[in-house]
Amino acid sequence: MAKHTSWKVGGPARYFFEPRDCEDLTAFLQSLDVQVPVLWLGLGSNLLVRDGGFEGAVIAAHRGLRTMKHLGEGYLMAEAGVSCARFSRFAGRYGWTGAEFLAGVPGTMGGALAMNAGAFGGETWDMVEEVDLVDREGVFHRRPARSFAVSYRRVEIPKAHWFTAGYFKLGEGLEKGETITVRSLLQKRAESQPVRQSSAGSVFRNPLGDHA
Ligand SMILES: Cc1cc2nc3c(=O)[nH]c(=O)nc-3n(C[C@H](O)[C@H](O)[C@H](O)COP(=O)(O)OP(=O)(O)OC[C@H]3O[C@@H](n4cnc5c(N)ncnc54)[C@H](O)[C@@H]3O)c2cc1C
Repeated sequence: MAKHTSWKVGGPARYFFEPRDCEDLTAFLQSLDVQVPVLWLGLGSNLLVRDGGFEGAVIAAHRGLRTMKHLGEGYLMAEAGVSCARFSRFAGRYGWTGAEFLAGVPGTMGGALAMNAGAFGGETWDMVEEVDLVDREGVFHRRPARSFAVSYRRVEIPKAHWFTAGYFKLGEGLEKGETITVRSLLQKRAESQPVRQSSAGSVFRNPLGDHA
């Protein structure tokens, strides 16, 4: 797993599966012995795997579940494997605001949903309307945002369920304004964080009303 985590550490997984699409994911989960534990992998930017590895199946979505859709009126869909940076650019291209902070988060949208990723005052779940999840039997479920307990970098996800897509509502932007904001946020990040070194970002919580 060392190749798949930003810490660049972690022993081998028993199985490593990259679904081509949702049907492929269902087929895999249905074929997998129910006793085999599953670990969902985004871009591994908030994941510490021990040297002994993972005695189960790792599902890596970032090559297969990569669809994004503009559904109109600031309503966007992104599959779990879409990178946060790509989603942020996609939203900006259509002139919608609210996802600029994601430009510098080095994970997937699935990881952002699981962690309630946030930066510079923005948080993933501020934008979420609905999500799709898959369960251990490979069955898909659509759930409204209100059915999840969400807090700072924490989301309560039903056991053995994983996000496969999110539906996000963004706001109207000023023309070209979002591009400038993204650039300034990335610059601020580069000036204040060792972005080129191996890490998992912050290993602390910001105190209430303040940040590092
Ligand atoms: C340099 C650097 C800067 C960072 N800056 C920020 C920041 O500004 N703000 C911030 O919030 N975080 C930041 N992080 C942490 C990290 O990028 C985020 O937590 C990100 O959301 C993790 O996404 P990922 O796809 O890499 O998830 P992973 O690290 O692959 O997974 C993290 C956890 O989420 C679970 N998970 C992943 N995808 C899913 C899914 N689809 N369904 C269910 N569970 C899932 C995994 O099993 C694991 O438990 C930073 C990390 C680094 C290395």
